[in-house]
Amino acid sequence: MKLIIMGQVGSGKGTYASRISKAMDILHLSTGELLRQEIKNETEIGKRAKIFVEKADWSAKEIHDIIMELLKKEINKPEASNGFIFDGFPRTLDQAKDLEKITDIDTVINLNVPEKMLLDRITNRRTCKKCGTVYNLISVPPKKAGICDKCEGELYQRTDETEEMTKHRMEENDRCTNPVLEFYRNKGLVIEIVNDNPEALPNEVVERILDKLKKVKTE
Ligand code: AMP
Repeated sequence: MKLIIMGQVGSGKGTYASRISKAMDILHLSTGELLRQEIKNETEIGKRAKIFVEKADWSAKEIHDIIMELLKKEINKPEASNGFIFDGFPRTLDQAKDLEKITDIDTVINLNVPEKMLLDRITNRRTCKKCGTVYNLISVPPKKAGICDKCEGELYQRTDETEEMTKHRMEENDRCTNPVLEFYRNKGLVIEIVNDNPEALPNEVVERILDKLKKVKTE
């Protein structure tokens, strides 16, 4: 299945996408993570992308081209033969339109989460410096404080997860992705997942998503 997961910054897209990818045996493609790896490895792409990621500028022509180049490579890998779930992409209408030229999409999952819940989540988020696994100090804490369960790498708070940057990203998110959501709504591809319960465990939300996906598949 070829999926897109959408939702505000902090809506849990990354966590859910990772679990859905395992449950459905499809490739999890997070453009934010791909960019962070390129930047960390100081590749040509990473050097070009760094300035846009630091400014959280999502719509510049150059970052658009970089993202499309990265994704074309990823979706042609054997690991993607069973399908994939995009997380953090498409972020602009131009990206959605260019995506149509390289692949079709089966379903778009839209996560609806209240803003206060979003801010609480972001300030509690920690990412592994080594493997990129994302934790939440409240809902998905690491077993040992500050240490990644998977690779024992050091956990850190991303610079784009400060309050100021988060607010900017939220505004950018609305400005850029609302038209993307409309684009997919008009195609009848969007399923809505409301998550307004801060106590809900990630697996419960994932189960609800998987249930809805099964219904879409059999319709
Ligand atoms: P994320 O991990 O999805 O929050 O992405 C982190 C940062 O990477 C974003 O704030 C953007 O600067 C950049 N980024 C990730 N995906 C995209 C995309 N599809 N288009 C443009 N910029 C992106």
